[in-house]
Amino acid sequence: MSGIDDLPPLSRVIASHGLTARKSLGQNFLLDLNLTAKIARQAGNLTNMDVLEIGPGPGGLTRGLLAEGARRVLAIEKDSRCLPALAEISAAYPGRLTVIEGDALKIDPLEHLTPPIAIAANLPYNVGTELLVRWLTPKDWPPFWQSLTLMFQREVAERIVAAPGSKAYGRLALLAQWRADARIMLSLPPEAFTPAPKVSSAVVHLTALPEPRFPADPKVLEGIVAAAFNQRRKMLRGSLKGQHPDIEEILKSAGIAPTERAEQVSLEAFCALARGLSAARA
Ligand code: SAM
Repeated sequence: MSGIDDLPPLSRVIASHGLTARKSLGQNFLLDLNLTAKIARQAGNLTNMDVLEIGPGPGGLTRGLLAEGARRVLAIEKDSRCLPALAEISAAYPGRLTVIEGDALKIDPLEHLTPPIAIAANLPYNVGTELLVRWLTPKDWPPFWQSLTLMFQREVAERIVAAPGSKAYGRLALLAQWRADARIMLSLPPEAFTPAPKVSSAVVHLTALPEPRFPADPKVLEGIVAAAFNQRRKMLRGSLKGQHPDIEEILKSAGIAPTERAEQVSLEAFCALARGLSAARA
């Protein structure tokens, strides 16, 4: 018995389906079902929610999400070798797990999901960051998801929750904190995974705010944040020079000294700057 359901232990699932981990797919599996249930619990109450899971692999987190009561799970997995193991989970939870084989960066999952929707994933680092940025920058707000519960390298998790003045503060922190509450919920040592990666990981939970924390045009805000942090050691009057001929005046009107560096500027001040820039360009 595996503890959270009647399916075999994950080590046996991996052996019987020949799921040797592939580096090219960022495969570091979670085999402890108590741990995957604990991660699923960080997503909050899932009983009336559809959950989108990216990269289920052999299904440890999937089983956690289902055992914790998710109404339905839609799982997108690139590695076809994992499909038989996932089919066994689907059979154990009739009508509650749908698996799509493919690249999560290329699939629009929305047609398969009914709100309210939560997203949960233990993904390779590069795919995870790219998806997070997409989920944080949709065309309309509020987004299709209510919460994101995502495993990242500890260093990336710290960039998401970082405060001004810290080294980790940058584009990810501003994008995440502008329209969501972001918290690190759990830290995991490398040994929690099979095979063990080189660095520690952390689970970040983000809840979408109904409205942005401070008003600003998303494209203008994203533009200045990208430009400011592309040259994070430069003074803002230099890094933002290309944004507007009167950038020094616009910075001052937003309450920011033109000699300030991006790292020191709060989210509120970046939003004031975005508003000032929109007005100056109008
Ligand atoms: N969720 C499982 C767990 O916690 O044990 C597996 C996690 S493993 C870190 C990442 C998973 O994402 C692998 O199963 C891998 O095949 C899958 N994956 C990698 N890139 C993907 C992509 N672009 N789209 C969908 N799945 C992907």
